[in-house]
Parts: sequence; structure tokens; C-alpha cells
Amino acid sequence: MKLKLAPGLAIKKSPISGKGCFATKTFEQRKKIAEYTGERISDFEALKRARGRRHLRICDIDGRFSLDGARGGNGTHYINHSCDPNAYMKTMHGHVLFFARRDIKAGEEITIDYEQTLLPDSRRCHCGAQNCRRTINKV
Ligand SMILES: [Zn+2]
Repeated sequence: MKLKLAPGLAIKKSPISGKGCFATKTFEQRKKIAEYTGERISDFEALKRARGRRHLRICDIDGRFSLDGARGGNGTHYINHSCDPNAYMKTMHGHVLFFARRDIKAGEEITIDYEQTLLPDSRRCHCGAQNCRRTINKV
């Protein structure tokens, strides 16, 4: 299935985990990068799907429902976790948006701090940041 990428994004092999989402242009600090798109599913369905997957492509919206980027995603579902991320996620009126935490240059991998995920708390982090907390979830 061909991925319809949001403008300014590219999917490439990541040094952090599997494939990652990379900037192909500059995103200035606090500017919007893209919206998270995907199939809208219940949290129950999200948990069920997350269990069978190695890479998490599901985004939980305020504990109300989830978006599964593996279906209908625009590349933002490849954004990896980092303990020292260059982007952050914000939920606004049921939409999930990514913003630049600092200036992001073309070629940089876009990362956010997942903080809480459907993954077990024991899931190790390999982001390589100096302040890496060693787990993906904040526990
Ligand atoms: Zn880390």
C-alpha cells in the first residue's frame, strides 16, 4: 500500500528503531509539522492491536479513542520516541498535531516523547539521548 505522506516528511531507516519519520525541510520552533492521521478505533480495539505488533503505530486520544496510523497514516505514525525529542504532540478538539520543539533541519529524524504508551512499562528505550530514561513509558 502506498503511503500518502504529509508535506515535508520522509520515511527512512532509523538509528533509533525500525523506520523513522524524517524532515525533508526546515520546521521552525513551535510551528506545526503535521496532523496524526489514521483509522479511528476504540481503546479496546487499540489494546488488542497493540499486543500483536512490534512497533506501535497507534495514538491514544485523551483516553477517549485511538487512531491507528498503520491504516491511513500520513507518515507521522513512524515518528519514534526519544527522551530528548525535537517535537511534541498536542491534542486539540479531537485532532492530534505535531509541533517542533526546536528548529528542525532537513534530514533530521523527528521524535517525540511518548510518555505513556500501550506498550508494557518494561519496554526498553534505545534513543541514545544523554538523558535517556531507559524505558519508553514514564513510570
Ligand atoms: Zn531514551
